[in-house]
Amino acid sequence: MSELTPITVAYGDGIGPEIMEATLRIIEAAGARIKPEVIEIGEKVYLSGNTAGIAESAWESLRRTKVFLKAPITTPQGGGFKSLNVTTRKMLGLFANIRPCVSYAPYVDTKHPKMDVVIIRENEEDLYAGIEHQQTPEVVQCLKLITRPGSEKIVRYAFEYARQYGRKKVTCFTKDNIMKQTDGLFHKVFDEIGAEYPDIEQEHWIIDIGAAKMADTPEIFDVIVMPNLYGDVLSDVAAQIAGSVGLAGSANIGAEVAMFEAIHGSAPRRAGQNLANPSGLLLGAVQMLVHIGQGDVAEKVHNAWLKTLEDGVHTYDIFKENVSTEKVGTKEFADAVIARMGQKPTKLNPVDYSQAKEAIKVQLKPVKPVKMETIGVDVFLYCDDRDANKLGKGLEAATAGSNLELTMITNRGVKVYPNGLPETFCTDHWRCRFKNKNGDTPYKDILALQTKITEAGFDIIKTENLCRFDGEDAFSAGQGA
Ligand code: NAD
Repeated sequence: MSELTPITVAYGDGIGPEIMEATLRIIEAAGARIKPEVIEIGEKVYLSGNTAGIAESAWESLRRTKVFLKAPITTPQGGGFKSLNVTTRKMLGLFANIRPCVSYAPYVDTKHPKMDVVIIRENEEDLYAGIEHQQTPEVVQCLKLITRPGSEKIVRYAFEYARQYGRKKVTCFTKDNIMKQTDGLFHKVFDEIGAEYPDIEQEHWIIDIGAAKMADTPEIFDVIVMPNLYGDVLSDVAAQIAGSVGLAGSANIGAEVAMFEAIHGSAPRRAGQNLANPSGLLLGAVQMLVHIGQGDVAEKVHNAWLKTLEDGVHTYDIFKENVSTEKVGTKEFADAVIARMGQKPTKLNPVDYSQAKEAIKVQLKPVKPVKMETIGVDVFLYCDDRDANKLGKGLEAATAGSNLELTMITNRGVKVYPNGLPETFCTDHWRCRFKNKNGDTPYKDILALQTKITEAGFDIIKTENLCRFDGEDAFSAGQGA
């Protein structure tokens, strides 16, 4: 017999213990080669005074096994308690969130009976870096950070996932017609990495029309990969329209550790009554088995579960007269899945995980040297006087003799100087672009420029260097510029 893979297991709160017990019983009956190690998380840990909801000793198990099967927990009401999911995601560098959104018509109601979409969401970057500042009385800012290694990791994961799960197409959603630098990088990396996967169809959609299409005709999509914020919103939309929020599992994958769970919560009102549906956690566990290279067991479990569903053996939450044949509790549902082990569904599509023999590993491409030049600076000013021409003339006078020259001023990204339109609404936050005609600019010249601007009485709130990488400008133009 092959070796057992240690996994860290948390029974969680509310219905957690019941659905975890059912899940482990089913996968062990299918021959899962695992050795569970139990850790304590959730309400009890929070209420003992630990604001993270996870005991210090639990990290040791997680770091060692690198695989976490987690039941839902109850976050106590009131302030001071940190989200356990956010803590785990950040501490363990779980960069990918994988959420299969599948319809099970006619057994589960949905307007999209043919939907079978997997949303792969970047999990660490984008606006979620949490870097926010108020800059003027009127303006606040949140930094959107997209990195090349972050984009490479998630995009490669999506293509490898498609191969491992026998998926045919990977779609990328971005808004790079507007965010040419940030979303532009994500799209560029998608095209670069995609070229290494000629066996998989690939396409890019602008997120607005892509999202509309996904909500209207989800069956045309297969795997969709996207940056963090879009993925946050659309993974919920996708699960909802598939009709299977209560049945969906999800995976959070890192370079070292991965966490698997149901997407629903701890349903405290249903706890301890043998009522809860264990399917969400079970499908999370199926992803876990694929991840640890036990695709054979994952396939057996998933197909037996699909057969149970189409045989009409349903827990209360999906039970429907005329469609269901038997209303069962958590334990009996697990028994029914176990009784069907080795069977395949005949009405729903069976799954095939024969390609899943080892965990997906994503290697970063070697870093290519690039030529980086600074050719100017955007100086952001706070100015309560809304007269763009006065500001422009004042800055020109203040910086006369500098080798950096004022080329434009924008307000909320719209060019207002020179030759702005009087109709443009202006706030107290101005971006003043200074460029050096001679190209590469030492930072001391930028500091000297800032000294002149400050000495003339202007309030600088921040600066951004204007860079060129391999001869290409890497900053946005002003609208109307
Ligand atoms: P919930 O998902 O627990 O429940 C929503 C509804 O769905 C309830 O009517 C519930 O009875 C039903 N439901 C959920 N799972 C079910 C299942 N497996 N079988 C049958 N019915 C099920 O959401 P909520 O009520 O908003 O949250 C309850 C608690 O769960 C809160 O403390 C919340 O913080 C927590 N929560 C935890 C996680 C997690 O640990 N990942 C996720 C979401 C919510």
